[in-house]
Amino acid sequence: MKYLDEYRDGRLAGKIVDELRRIQTRPWVIMEVCGGQTHSIVKHGIDYLLPEGIELVHGPGCPVCVTPLEMIDKAHAIARRQDVIFCSFGDMLRVPGSEGDLFTIKSQGGDVRIVYSPLDCLKIARANPDKKIVFFAIGFETTAPANAMLVWRAKQEGVKNVSILVSHVLVPPSIASILQSPLNRVQGFLGPGHVCAIMGYREYEPISARFKVPIVITGFEPLDILQGTLMTLRQLESGRAEVENQYSRVLDRDGNKPAQKLVFSVFEIGDRKWRGVGSIPKSGYKLRWEFREHDAEKLFDVKEIDTHEPAVCISGQILKGIKKPHDCPAFGTQCDPQHPLGATMVSAEGACAAYYAYGRHLKKEQENKSAIASSLGGAA
Ligand code: SF4
Repeated sequence: MKYLDEYRDGRLAGKIVDELRRIQTRPWVIMEVCGGQTHSIVKHGIDYLLPEGIELVHGPGCPVCVTPLEMIDKAHAIARRQDVIFCSFGDMLRVPGSEGDLFTIKSQGGDVRIVYSPLDCLKIARANPDKKIVFFAIGFETTAPANAMLVWRAKQEGVKNVSILVSHVLVPPSIASILQSPLNRVQGFLGPGHVCAIMGYREYEPISARFKVPIVITGFEPLDILQGTLMTLRQLESGRAEVENQYSRVLDRDGNKPAQKLVFSVFEIGDRKWRGVGSIPKSGYKLRWEFREHDAEKLFDVKEIDTHEPAVCISGQILKGIKKPHDCPAFGTQCDPQHPLGATMVSAEGACAAYYAYGRHLKKEQENKSAIASSLGGAA
């Protein structure tokens, strides 16, 4: 199938792996930033295909994972109100807060609805003028334009009973934060393809220059990831540190300018807390003052909620590339997707959830390696 099978060709994968092996002279640690890339890597066993000494570690780019527990509890407090219709994409409904999830609230009589576009909230608002419609606006730069469009249209069209609960985070400050950590192991990045389709990749250039790290904006299919790894390795082995674009069939340096214009007309940059990581300065969006009538946090005045993550959970270290799911004593025992203890298991896009989904809690590493090597043409 065009655009799918052509990026899953085991013969080509084998050639790239051969080239990686040919040029590698020492061990390297490379981080893939996006949760979608992590899933592709674990699903297709790309980490098993790589030559020994090229280690992929998993980054913070899973939007559900990094949404703070406090924000999830705030969403639940709003969703429990009788005067509210609470709207969300489906992936947030199973995410547990301190007391249950949105499905629980729905089963207890809360009006919680799954929408497929934030703009669906405008229709719901017009059909329910006596209710307050709240959309849970989470995610990275990728989802910001559609959320901005909802607020912008609500203001333009005078739909006053629509608001959004904003928990948007931004990728470049998280990369800078990882690189500033004294525990950092990451020497190169596979950059976030979907985020850069909106934002372009200019803002990664000063980070690459300042920290002297290669950043290769990379897609999500197996050959994308292998090619992105090869481009990163070529830079590392030759001592270069630049931003390169592996995903040129989708994006360019400038990104989608009309989408950016819309985003910055509605949002401004502010500090944000990341689940498992902590507060990162200037790492998220908040609504501009002109749109305060559509800001659910201001409208509902939900008090700060004190939350505690389980002590056993190392998801913060996983999101920074310091550790991996197997390093957690609770992985696959106390913690699984039905009973997630931490950020990287709550979302299907999280690294712990990916390892679990593809059976890495069940099989020995060597058995997995062999199966995956043969499924991709025996390249390992
Ligand atoms: S397996 Fe669970 S407890 Fe362990 S790091 Fe992952 S999310 Fe946290």
